[in-house]
Amino acid sequence: MKIAIDGPSGVGKSTLAKAIANEFGLMYVDTGAMYRMVAFYFAKNNLDYRNEENLKKFLHDINIELSSDAKFFLNGEDVTDFLRTQQIAQISSTLAQFKSVRDKLTALQKKIAMTKNVVMDGRDIASNIMPNADFKFYLDAKAFVRAQRRMDELGKKNFQECYEKILQRDERDLNRKISPLVRVSDAIFIDTTDMDFEQVRQKVFDIIRTGG
Ligand code: C5P
Repeated sequence: MKIAIDGPSGVGKSTLAKAIANEFGLMYVDTGAMYRMVAFYFAKNNLDYRNEENLKKFLHDINIELSSDAKFFLNGEDVTDFLRTQQIAQISSTLAQFKSVRDKLTALQKKIAMTKNVVMDGRDIASNIMPNADFKFYLDAKAFVRAQRRMDELGKKNFQECYEKILQRDERDLNRKISPLVRVSDAIFIDTTDMDFEQVRQKVFDIIRTGG
């Protein structure tokens, strides 16, 4: 079974994907974390990630692996705990605009999708990585609600800052030239603005159990 989940930042894709993976015995592939790993590499080594020509020179030095217990290894080092900061989020959405970065990561994602039963979340999963997925979900929510959720997740106090960062990432993810965030026509759309996680989980599990 293959399940694709797409949607903007802070909509709750990864919490849902983890719950699906547990319930239905699938591997969870967090594609956002892969972009974050590339971002972490550039941040850690103080390298320029804004210029694609420069960035390309370093891409082949980056080796990404996922363990079966959802840990992320960058060149053999477990970096799982360093990926979920706002700085890494911002860098990753800048890098994600570049073809060279997307080619590298999407090849890896397609390879995993071909060989495993997976639930994969991201921005281009139904449109590009798994167009033949058994289920395609598109989650959305108003930006202020997503900012609030992000604020709670990261333990931040400044709502305005979180809100602006969400808007900046939306702008880059929706408007980039290559594989922008899109809702494919056969995706099941769920607006989670007024739903709590339990309601979303219940709805999605019912759909999967009854075959849509
Ligand atoms: O989902 P997450 O917030 O961890 O993703 C980090 C960034 O990686 C996103 O803002 C987006 O720009 C990029 N991304 C992407 N395509 C994906 C997953 C993430 O462009 N499939």
